[in-house]
Amino acid sequence: MKEEATALQRAFLKEVAAHWPPAKGSLAFVRRPCIRANCPACLRGDKHGAWIFTFRQGGRQRCRYVSKELAPLLRRGIANGRWLEARVTALGVALIEERRRPARRGGGRAVKRQGRA
Ligand SMILES: [Zn+2]
Repeated sequence: MKEEATALQRAFLKEVAAHWPPAKGSLAFVRRPCIRANCPACLRGDKHGAWIFTFRQGGRQRCRYVSKELAPLLRRGIANGRWLEARVTALGVALIEERRRPARRGGGRAVKRQGRA
């Protein structure tokens, strides 16, 4: 059964388009020594700065290096992802509200409840 796009669906798709791209995880700037032997920076104790994106995938925590050019986009993606999660949660409730049938007056079938009456 194909359902027509509801006002709720159209509004959601429009909002999602305005919150592109989404991402889920966290972004952090870290300073670490590298693996090169006799690296001048590491010998001075300066280490190397890098952006790292940490995320969960298949139940495992993973991380990827991110270029400093990409970091702002990813930060925006994480904010978008948080918005999307909150929006999807609210949408579940809105879906129930939207499909709620108006209560019938008189003569309507009694709603059967499970469990104790
Ligand atoms: Zn180094």
